[in-house]
Amino acid sequence: MRIDLHTHSSVSDGTDAPAELVAAAAAAGLDVVALSDHDTFDGLADAGEAGERLGVQVVRGIEVSAQYRGTSVHLLGYGCRADDPALLAELTRVRRGRGDRVPAMLANLAAAGMPVPGEVLARHVGTSPSVGRPHIADAMIELGYVADRREAFDRWLADDKPIFVGRYATPLAAGLDLITAAGGVAVIAHPWGRVSRHQLPASLLAQLAASGQLDGVEVDHQDHDRATRAELRALAARLGLLATGSSDYHGAGKDDHDLGCNTTTDEVLAEIAARVGARGGRL
Ligand code: AMP
Ligand code: FE
Ligand code: FE
Ligand code: ZN
Repeated sequence: MRIDLHTHSSVSDGTDAPAELVAAAAAAGLDVVALSDHDTFDGLADAGEAGERLGVQVVRGIEVSAQYRGTSVHLLGYGCRADDPALLAELTRVRRGRGDRVPAMLANLAAAGMPVPGEVLARHVGTSPSVGRPHIADAMIELGYVADRREAFDRWLADDKPIFVGRYATPLAAGLDLITAAGGVAVIAHPWGRVSRHQLPASLLAQLAASGQLDGVEVDHQDHDRATRAELRALAARLGLLATGSSDYHGAGKDDHDLGCNTTTDEVLAEIAARVGARGGRL
């Protein structure tokens, strides 16, 4: 089977509506696709419906904004009960932090000579409950300040660039526990990607594996080069962590992240399903 366990819809910072994303997954020849929007479950109902119609298994996912010692860490949760009160309360807190930082980023943009009117930004956020920098990037593109999201991040919005403003994110250990307590399986997304390569050492992953808090790591991801993938795959095998692969598709929002460009094996998906079943979650 062709299995892609990490994608984003327009419910967060992707550009396809959930049903469009599932249709694109079918067209790309995927048998299984996880919708893993940032900090919200809101797209799962539409995606699941489209999956039934189109014969694609839709895995119920989420990507939680966490942090470890101030460095951003993204946690993929699979099969969480979407009505778990503790998890929902934390996601609300994270999304509020997303909204609260926007005025400061708009002020930074104005100060840099790139005013972004609120209504322009609002058009790009649309109905997403989870506003993010990619929406600001899209407004900057519309206003002619940058050519694409990549330029917006590279010049202005990345964590070390002048427009960036930090926001609340869940402490790593708490995020892992919230996911598993809600019946889910917890996988660290792109652990050795651009932001977190040196902040998430093997020793930390070993500790999280030994404590049983962490189920797996996303090995095959576009932010990992060949050598990084090999190193991380060997580490996962040594630590007994599941190794996943996925596209991190964002529709037109991210180049080089086509659906199915990386995939997860049938065996790993079966193990995820078994753990979700044992924890009382719903895949
Ligand atoms: P935020 O959610 O506001 O912290 O913004 C982070 C999001 O921006 C990530 O989830 C990615 O989808 C996106 N992103 C980060 N870096 C880049 C980049 N260089 N190019 C395009 N999108 C990016
Ligand atoms: Fe994103
Ligand atoms: Fe991510
Ligand atoms: Zn993602």
